[in-house]
Amino acid sequence: MTSIRINEARVTQILQDLVRIPSVNPNFEGGVPERDMADYVEAFLSRLGLASERREVRPDRPNVIGILPGISADAPGLLLEAHMDTVQIANMTIDPYGAEIRDGKLYGRGACDTKASLAAMLAALEWFVENGIKPPVPVYLAATVDEEVNFLGVLDVLESGHRLAAAVVGEPTGLHAVVAHKGVVRCMIETIGVSAHSSKPEEGVNAISGMMKVVHHIDRTMSERLQGAFHPLVGRPTLSVTEITGGVAPNTIPERCLIKIDRRTVPGEDSDQVWREIQEELTRFAQEDGTLKLIVHPPFVLDYAMDTSPDSEIVRLVTAKAAEKIGEVRTHGVPYGTDASKLTRVGIPSVVFGPGSIDQAHTKDEWVELKQVALAAEIIAGTMLAFGK
Ligand SMILES: [Zn+2]
Repeated sequence: MTSIRINEARVTQILQDLVRIPSVNPNFEGGVPERDMADYVEAFLSRLGLASERREVRPDRPNVIGILPGISADAPGLLLEAHMDTVQIANMTIDPYGAEIRDGKLYGRGACDTKASLAAMLAALEWFVENGIKPPVPVYLAATVDEEVNFLGVLDVLESGHRLAAAVVGEPTGLHAVVAHKGVVRCMIETIGVSAHSSKPEEGVNAISGMMKVVHHIDRTMSERLQGAFHPLVGRPTLSVTEITGGVAPNTIPERCLIKIDRRTVPGEDSDQVWREIQEELTRFAQEDGTLKLIVHPPFVLDYAMDTSPDSEIVRLVTAKAAEKIGEVRTHGVPYGTDASKLTRVGIPSVVFGPGSIDQAHTKDEWVELKQVALAAEIIAGTMLAFGK
């Protein structure tokens, strides 16, 4: 098979269409549901004659899953996943929805994170249909909602019932292969005291003084204990106290003090388990202290670390196909989270891959290099053609 050629002008056109559809996550200022993006993807698939499912994850916030049949119709499929939502547009210095092209770069919110990946995946599907070629196994294209906040979209893909052998998760990796990242647990801890007039502090219990003991224990004992752990691709797990509030007036013994903590997990650690251990340890710490009363609140953010073996078929294929186009390809870990950890957690080997640099994601003049988007489409198509053979 000669190498796959996908027209850069065509990929550019798709990306321009996508960037011109506002899809700021509704949790952010000026956000809108992803419906219009979903409509576009659905129409695109239907024009290609491919079956697709529209799954209302939340009202007006649908995932769209398109299906390209494989030669082995019943084999577990390859998932191509890219999120449709973007971050906010506040303070951007360019037209966020202009999709303007200058010097081979396309500018706009989502241009690199991650509409470029979605455009590359759609162009790859189109290439198969237009050339009348079937991949060895079914390919599912999932355009998902809500990656930037709660990962609701990818979690819904897991409920869709499709059997998945592996996944390519679109994010701006500069055409390198990301196989590991950290997870995170963030929660609030509250100490409860008894308020009193500060002229008679002995009649109260100071919640701030109590919290100082907690902070000290977290910084010294709990966080130092993590020093021993190390993952070769993402480094060490960490634990930090990141916010503190407490007290109501300068002459009142405070009855409440609150902190927020940020715990970064590494592959091999389970974020749910980590959270339970934090809760147990601090509860025990308070009991042993005798005077300390505290509540460890359930996490307000919890996400999983991910890693996929560099020897897995999907990583080997993406890396090999990318190397044909750009030479040296890195297989590495990154500090940011992605939809991929939800897939690897249930045993679906996943690689995070896409055009553009994470340095341009979420920026005031977000852009992507168009040449990379076309190369990404060819790498993804090459992967689809070889996976499961
Ligand atoms: Zn992204």
